[in-house]
Amino acid sequence: MFEKTKRYGILGLARSGISAAYKIRELGGNAFLSDVQWKDKIPAVKELEQDFECEFGGHTDRLLECDEWIVSPGIPLDTPIILKGKTAGIPMISEIEFGFQIKAADSKIIAVTGSNGKSTTASLIHHILQSMGQKSILAGNIGDAFCSYPIHKPGIDFIVLEISSFQLDLIDTFKPNVAVILNITPDHLNRYESFAHYAVSKMRITENQDANDTVVLNYDSELIRKLEAQIRSKILHFSLETCQDPVKACKDDKFICLKPEQTISIYNLSLRGPHNHANTMASLLAVSALSLDMDAAVSSLKSFKPLSHRLELVAAVNGIFFYNDSKATNSDSVRSALQSFENPIRIIMGGSDKGEDFSVLTDILIEKARKVYVTGDTEAKMRQAWMGKVPLVCISDFETCVRTAFNEAMVGDTILLSPACASYDKFKNFEHRGETFRQIALKIAREHEKN
Ligand code: ADP
Repeated sequence: MFEKTKRYGILGLARSGISAAYKIRELGGNAFLSDVQWKDKIPAVKELEQDFECEFGGHTDRLLECDEWIVSPGIPLDTPIILKGKTAGIPMISEIEFGFQIKAADSKIIAVTGSNGKSTTASLIHHILQSMGQKSILAGNIGDAFCSYPIHKPGIDFIVLEISSFQLDLIDTFKPNVAVILNITPDHLNRYESFAHYAVSKMRITENQDANDTVVLNYDSELIRKLEAQIRSKILHFSLETCQDPVKACKDDKFICLKPEQTISIYNLSLRGPHNHANTMASLLAVSALSLDMDAAVSSLKSFKPLSHRLELVAAVNGIFFYNDSKATNSDSVRSALQSFENPIRIIMGGSDKGEDFSVLTDILIEKARKVYVTGDTEAKMRQAWMGKVPLVCISDFETCVRTAFNEAMVGDTILLSPACASYDKFKNFEHRGETFRQIALKIAREHEKN
């Protein structure tokens, strides 16, 4: 628990580390900041140096003088400094754990995790709560860090957190009132020993919950159903496949049914695709656990504005549609994108590798893709997975790749950027990749307006 007399070591000076440091300062505590990057790479470094003792360009033994560490989710837990800290017996927590320890008792936490759909679902829950006049904040992996809000003061009704497995790896007492586990499918296999380790890490979101808390679970995931035996909180299931008990929210043809009485036409939702219907069910079940007016919650769904870079229509040129799904950085999110369209798809894939086996997509590509356009670092691996099975071309230059897809497209085709990979081979982040795609699509649109 937080103590003013403790000296906190902050490892990694990105959003969450910096906000934790300032929160410690605000609460009258003491923090020592450490980052492997040199000063010139750290934004607002002058202020940091004025306000804290800092070290840059590497983590040194000065950290061992601290009583507890707050570790950035970007730092793998097998790096030498972490191993050294463990040997020295230094307690290590994530910024999410720290925020939980200092938050005001009256704020309820809704924590969303999963391999895909976290941002969408957390944003939708936040939107529903705000629409109902509740004081809600959205934090964690999305928007601003948890500790950047005045969470230690009373008055925030609900804190909606998007939480990654990296943040869950370093929790201790974190206990959300409502947890949501959307799905657990292969991702980040370059950082975990195995898929089983990754799954266990996701399930930790429920580890401190008790019978007064709730967890919303995906009934369609055999893996989640297997792991739920260890859960002590109340379970609410959603399913795209069945409406049988114990499922509390399900999809029946063109409707979402929320037991016992709500029925919502999917045409009244702003989100498209079956995966987003699952996200909607999970959001509604999470809100239902808070004993709020569910009619009002349902009414607010229509006004939700979908997030950018997730199946976002960015241009239409001569009957050819460009969709930006740059946030699809693993196979399962690509699968859900492919399932969201009726018309033929020309899909642009590839980027930096996260250790996945791309052959899991072969069947759905055969069924849904007119052609695959591969670009980026995973070119050889993707070619090996799909060559001879699906029409495929490899084009290193990103713009040439998008233009080739357009030049080969027919009226009614969808050109879909859904890479199944991280973006760091050629771009700063997924937003940069998606924005680049959007700009190329708009350029093509302008060229065709002139003709
Ligand atoms: P996350 O925050 O978990 O990365 P996002 O909501 O940002 O999730 O969506 C990431 C990608 O996953 C997008 O391409 C989106 O279309 C896809 N996606 C969203 N929800 C789901 C889901 N429930 N199952 C599978 N894919 C999904």
